[in-house]
Amino acid sequence: MNKDLHIYNSLTRKKEIFEPLNAPFVGMYVCGPTVYGDGHLGHARPAITFDILFRLLKHYDYKVRYVRNITDVGHLENDADAGEDKIAKKARLEKLEPMEVVQYYTDRYHKNMAQLNVQSPSIEPRASGHIIEQLEMVDEILKQGFAYESKGSVYFDVEAYNKKYHYGKLSGRNIEDMLNTTRALDGQDDKKNSFDFALWKKASPEHIMRWPSKYSDGFPGWHMECSAMSTKYLGDQFDIHGGGMDLQFPHHECEIAQSTAANGKESVKYWMHNNMITINGQKMGKSLGNFITLNDFFAGTHQILEKAYSPMTVRFFILQAHYRSTVDFSNEALQAAEKGLDRLLTAIQTLEKLKPSEQSTINVSEIEDKCYTAINDDLNTPITIAHLFDGVKLINSIKDGKETITTNDLDQLKTLFNIFTFDILGFVNETEIKSESKDITSGLMDFILDIRQNAKNNKDWTTSDKIRDQMKALGIEIKDGKEGAEWSIK
Ligand code: ZN
Repeated sequence: MNKDLHIYNSLTRKKEIFEPLNAPFVGMYVCGPTVYGDGHLGHARPAITFDILFRLLKHYDYKVRYVRNITDVGHLENDADAGEDKIAKKARLEKLEPMEVVQYYTDRYHKNMAQLNVQSPSIEPRASGHIIEQLEMVDEILKQGFAYESKGSVYFDVEAYNKKYHYGKLSGRNIEDMLNTTRALDGQDDKKNSFDFALWKKASPEHIMRWPSKYSDGFPGWHMECSAMSTKYLGDQFDIHGGGMDLQFPHHECEIAQSTAANGKESVKYWMHNNMITINGQKMGKSLGNFITLNDFFAGTHQILEKAYSPMTVRFFILQAHYRSTVDFSNEALQAAEKGLDRLLTAIQTLEKLKPSEQSTINVSEIEDKCYTAINDDLNTPITIAHLFDGVKLINSIKDGKETITTNDLDQLKTLFNIFTFDILGFVNETEIKSESKDITSGLMDFILDIRQNAKNNKDWTTSDKIRDQMKALGIEIKDGKEGAEWSIK
């Protein structure tokens, strides 16, 4: 097995071999959701992308501490330093306590993640539970001279920081350009420069989510939580920080600046970003009428959807694209994904029943090498899946007697398919779950048909007709034939 994992580092803009700072331990931080609404595809993609990385690192025997936060305070509308808190706004509209909103949507998010077979992170800290840590970091940034107080708020001093470090290194933005394009907005708030960002905001009288501090009764700026919580749980320096590409700026750029300002050094070795999802070629948005939640997908309850799509179909679809490419959802593409996954899982069932021969005409090690090479190449899941499908063809050829396989090779092939399909790509066999309930149905139907046959033998037509009609009402059709009665679900 080749464990040489290469990942694309958004900071250096190139693929690098993955070497943990402190092997066999790996620290990984991924920005989780702001919990003020139901989970959608934009939540599913980073969760699934970093689930693959989490699973792969564990497969390679690393001890991974995976931290994925829940944003429950400080994320203001439009990702800016102004406007209402997204959670407080939802709470106001629904007449709920903000923490009721947080609990409700966190529970629903967890349910969606479990449906998608996304493994739980090692730690899932909430911003509101780490106000003290955030304030300590604000103090430190001020002490280091990279922030200033203004009317009870504390702002990061981007210009001061940029004199010593490089602000904009992740997003490729240049402070001179930002100065030129944003100067017109100056003087509208308490900041020295419009690109300075809040570390701590004084709460206005109507702002309900607030904590006391020496600066003011207020709340942390959105970016603070990830700097404070990643440092708390993973240390001043850790291996991987991930999230969606839309978080590169301002969120991750600000995180880098805060952590570097407070700790005096870069905190993250590899920055990884997944690309976005579009729907029928369009950006997803509430105003565009194409905002489909994960629950909509699983139940088929959105006018755009021709049918329901199972969580594994959605997972397979997302993994059919490389995480740094965009994914476009359409009914055709989802239905193709559904068929593809079914073919893969059916082949695995076939694989279990194959009979070994004296000789092998296929080279299992070659498929294995190709799968590892693909997944090690910056988690190239579409190519990995393509190689598995080469394996599917061979499995079907063995079944048809066109190829043969020895016992050892067969064991190796089974192990390979199980590792990649279930352990690394994280699929579960939904038809297997369905077939468990199918077994119960079959047993019950045998029993019912037996009672009906007894009734018929006793010329008790009332009972036999009643059974037939009741079953029909339940969608089960009973047909009498020469070999006895048969049933089918309509
Ligand atoms: Zn974050």
